[in-house]
Amino acid sequence: MKRFFGIVFVLGLIGCAVLIFIPKTRKIVGIDPGPPLIGVQPFGNISDREVDSVQQSIQDMYGFEVVVLAPVEMPEMAYTEIRYPRYRADSLLHWLTYHHPDSLDIVVGLTNQDFSITKYKEGTREIKDPEWMYKDFGIFGLGTVGGSCCVVSSNRLHKNVSDKTFYKRLMRITCHEVGHVLGLRHCPEANCLMNDANESIKTIDNSTGDLCEACWANI
Ligand SMILES: [Zn+2]
Ligand SMILES: [Zn+2]
Repeated sequence: MKRFFGIVFVLGLIGCAVLIFIPKTRKIVGIDPGPPLIGVQPFGNISDREVDSVQQSIQDMYGFEVVVLAPVEMPEMAYTEIRYPRYRADSLLHWLTYHHPDSLDIVVGLTNQDFSITKYKEGTREIKDPEWMYKDFGIFGLGTVGGSCCVVSSNRLHKNVSDKTFYKRLMRITCHEVGHVLGLRHCPEANCLMNDANESIKTIDNSTGDLCEACWANI
């Protein structure tokens, strides 16, 4: 009889240990972290319509909740006069990485100012030829693969096009950059939004505007 109660006691202890252990493990490992919460950070004086369009395009494409933060001034540290007075996209991205609410998983910076980066020869730190052009090269957007931030500039998307084309471009650039943050690299599939040719305005206009199956599977 003593032995029986001993076994029941030991089993009871194991049961309690399992009950205590399981919820803790779930919390630590984070089995279901849920979808990421995304924020749009407008920089400077940018129209509500552009901000709304960026917010809507992320929601429609990826199905995540997107909040809009109060606008902030363009950080002075991102200003450059290397070729023209404008801003450095990499500096802006760096600034945003360290200046956003902790409650957000991903932040998309949006500006209507022109911004640029230095383009290097693939796999090197040597500036692409011609150097005068690529040392400060204007771009539409920049995102950290698997990071927490990307930045989008609407500045180069307006030129000689209708409003409809402008907003279509803005949506595609945004979803391309958010794709990088969600862990996607450039994709060899010609029609995929993550193809690096989608960093040229002509291919953006002609693309399907969607990710290929392989890219969708990687999110
Ligand atoms: Zn890209
Ligand atoms: Zn793809």
